[in-house]
Amino acid sequence: MSKNLVIGSGISGLSLARRLENVTIFDPTDTPGGVIGSRTGRFFFEKGPRSFRVDRCQKLLKIIHELGLEDEIIYASKNSKRRFILHNGRLRSPLSFPAVWWAIANEWRRPLGPTTDESVHDFFCRRLGKRVTDLLIDPVITGIKAADYREVSMQWTFPNITSLTSSFLKKKKGDPRLFTLKSGLQTLIDRLADGLNFTTTQPDFSHYDTIYSTIPYEPTLKLFPKLPTIERLKTQPLSAINFAWENASLQKPGYGYLIPRLENEKILGCVFDSYIFPQQNKTENELRLTVMMREPDTQVALAALARHLNLTQMPDEVHINAYPQAIANYPVGHPEKIQAWLERAKELYPNVHFLGGFTSKPSVNDRILLF
Ligand SMILES: Cc1cc2nc3c(=O)[nH]c(=O)nc-3n(C[C@H](O)[C@H](O)[C@H](O)COP(=O)(O)OP(=O)(O)OC[C@H]3O[C@@H](n4cnc5c(N)ncnc54)[C@H](O)[C@@H]3O)c2cc1C
Repeated sequence: MSKNLVIGSGISGLSLARRLENVTIFDPTDTPGGVIGSRTGRFFFEKGPRSFRVDRCQKLLKIIHELGLEDEIIYASKNSKRRFILHNGRLRSPLSFPAVWWAIANEWRRPLGPTTDESVHDFFCRRLGKRVTDLLIDPVITGIKAADYREVSMQWTFPNITSLTSSFLKKKKGDPRLFTLKSGLQTLIDRLADGLNFTTTQPDFSHYDTIYSTIPYEPTLKLFPKLPTIERLKTQPLSAINFAWENASLQKPGYGYLIPRLENEKILGCVFDSYIFPQQNKTENELRLTVMMREPDTQVALAALARHLNLTQMPDEVHINAYPQAIANYPVGHPEKIQAWLERAKELYPNVHFLGGFTSKPSVNDRILLF
């Protein structure tokens, strides 16, 4: 029987390994899951991803059902529909800006632009204007994709969108509810990893018939030194700092807020965990928040929460989850470049499939392989 090796034990490596026979998973860390994991104790925390839209996560839902975890699915509260943008140091609804309404209403009049790839910044500046792009698009790309809107590829990030108006009109109605697993995403990881064969020591690759590499870009180049580099591609760091208070609340409950770079803040945004999935609260009056930033700094994060949310009480629990290689930046031209790179990689390493996050979209759903 042919021997398979999967490199990396994140969601991509685990989901793939479950579909293969006679497989070993190599990851130097002895805790599978990659950036996914949950912490249970006095308070519940997700260390990385935490919420998913039903209509955009069919592969994730499928795997949850296959693993018999459907009873674990919980949906987000009504509160979580409220999202905020930080503007002049205050939380505001994105639709509270007249400029946003004006830009959307007039979008169909704007020029369509080039058929070649461009940056998300250039696309939206042309379609919605610079002010609305800086106000809304920048924080979404920075806070959710951990990338710079001036560099990130439009074709990769939002394929097939040439006009927002026509995309909106074409859009089929889906189920926009957010879900997660009640006991945390760790349950999914544990169930996926159950019965699989792991090694933390690098094996001799020549002993395997087929190798599936699911690791980020930089370690891929190190493990397979003949591979060429990809121009301007770099994996970005991201940190999620969990804070919990036994007795505290927010004046504006919701999903959380994102921060445009115009605000000159060091944090990227904040997620109001205890309001999104109150089913995961352990006590009635607790407050759980997660601050996203590039390099973790608890003092900077707490100072930001004091300014933005008037939250001056010291937290009862803090956990830092730092991911030096979290998400690739997908620069302009990435779709073509990655195609050419994959073809060259196949010539150089014919028995290796390169499936790291830099070759696909970064969402958990997109990282579930072979479904
Ligand atoms: C803080 C944060 C929040 C996020 N929130 C969301 C969200 O809400 N929704 C969503 O859809 N997505 C979210 N994402 C993105 C998503 O979680 C990730 O893109 C996805 O989980 C990545 O899975 P992966 O298996 O590709 O990589 P990873 O989870 O990064 O796993 C890669 C594995 O490779 C291993 N590895 C590294 N180097 C080597 C080597 N040399 N040899 C062997 N193994 C190696 C690592 O130890 C790791 O276990 C978030 C990401 C982060 C960081």
